[in-house]
Amino acid sequence: MTDEEHWVPTSWRSKKAAQTVEYPDMAHLAKVLDKVRALPPLVTPSEIERLRHQLTLVQRNEAFLLHAGDCAESFEACTQENISAKLGLILSFSLILIWGARLPVVRVGRIAGQYAKPRSSATEKVGDREIMIFRGDNVNGIHPDDRTPDPERLLSAYFHSTATLNHIRSLLISGFGSLHHPRDWSLSHVRSPSLKAEYASISEGLADALDFTRTIGLESGREVQSYERGGGRGVLGEADLYTRYPYVVHREILHNMLYISHEGLLLDYEEAMTRRYPIPDSTVSRELGTPEKYYNTSAHFLWVGDRTRQMDGAHIEYFRGIRNPIGIKVGPSITSDQIVTLLDCQVTLITRYGADKIGSHLAPHVRAVQASGHPVIWVCDPMHGNTLVSSSGLKTRHFGTIISELTSCLRIHGECNSRLGGVSLEFTGELNEEGYSVTECLGGSMELSEEQLGLRYQTFCDPRLNFEQSLDVAFLEATDVLY
Ligand code: PEP
Ligand code: MN
Repeated sequence: MTDEEHWVPTSWRSKKAAQTVEYPDMAHLAKVLDKVRALPPLVTPSEIERLRHQLTLVQRNEAFLLHAGDCAESFEACTQENISAKLGLILSFSLILIWGARLPVVRVGRIAGQYAKPRSSATEKVGDREIMIFRGDNVNGIHPDDRTPDPERLLSAYFHSTATLNHIRSLLISGFGSLHHPRDWSLSHVRSPSLKAEYASISEGLADALDFTRTIGLESGREVQSYERGGGRGVLGEADLYTRYPYVVHREILHNMLYISHEGLLLDYEEAMTRRYPIPDSTVSRELGTPEKYYNTSAHFLWVGDRTRQMDGAHIEYFRGIRNPIGIKVGPSITSDQIVTLLDCQVTLITRYGADKIGSHLAPHVRAVQASGHPVIWVCDPMHGNTLVSSSGLKTRHFGTIISELTSCLRIHGECNSRLGGVSLEFTGELNEEGYSVTECLGGSMELSEEQLGLRYQTFCDPRLNFEQSLDVAFLEATDVLY
């Protein structure tokens, strides 16, 4: 993906876009997009550069990437409780990973903008009517009578993203990270006594380590805050901070940072949020010999989905021009040559073949990338190739199959002298009114059964691991069970 000189944020318009939305009133769409273009950015070039820098640490095996959150966010779920539950789970999960891998974790949430969904069919049957499918809250409504795409939803998505990000930033600045202490994890859901003992020993070890760092005064990014007080920077400081104060990176990654991401599906919106700025770190600009770049300011990280990554399509054309680090979903249908053609940006390859297909696809893809000499980050998404329909007709995933793809992925990377740099998961810490976790995926240490699926099935799209099942994944990753 090179040839940047000939790129402008509208270049994609000359290519064919998959998953396009047909709006009934194009003048209305144009008016909304003008408004979006005038609104302030959600994230800044400094933050994006900083994530780029942290991803180079992942590439160098000095950090691990956690990409996680909802399949689809909804406007209705944009509440204080839900946002803090999601953030809390991401922080707890990453603490366990840090403990297990002895590496800092770079956290990227599928949050604050993950509204649009690619769909396999354009319509669905509801009763005796064939209606347009639900395509995400930023396109149309989930209610069968609200399926006509409405451009105002793009504006609403902007403001819901802003509200979500604002709350995340305030929670993190206010020390929310330190509230998620391993001693508060109840492991009461774990049915097997031996597994429970193993998890308990990890959380005890982690709790002791945290207490120790607190005692000796390294808690919750205190150095970052004091540096910021001195240097007058915001909590989301600048990239060169990390080259000058490497230990700060680790402390801050540990406690104080969450980057936001979403699938870059609706290119009208992505284009309106794409703006040209000077690269904030002057050493980088000198190296590249170009003072300005296009940044997508709606998220730090964006990815291209498995359904929109056609080589000559509009999405790939859009993604090749932005400075943000990007992800590309890699399923069984992509060829090694196509992968290699996509590697000129800072790319994270998010593999999602399915537990039964990874054995035949991953190794050739890894070897092709190795032969190309491009540095990439390999991330395992063990969710999207393992979706099934339960006997009661609910879309679900089995915990065991998810773990199986993850285990194979680790093993195959090892066999190829490659390294798994991260995981991409759909999970949620969201609880229902009575304080119970969702029931969307089968199995896990709580042994969720098919009969229990219907109890609290709340997803708007794909089934997510609940709080307990997510910690199970983290604990398994932290032990040597997967290796
Ligand atoms: C997703 O990440 O929610 C998704 C739709 O994934 P994929 O494009 O890999 O199917
Ligand atoms: Mn999904």
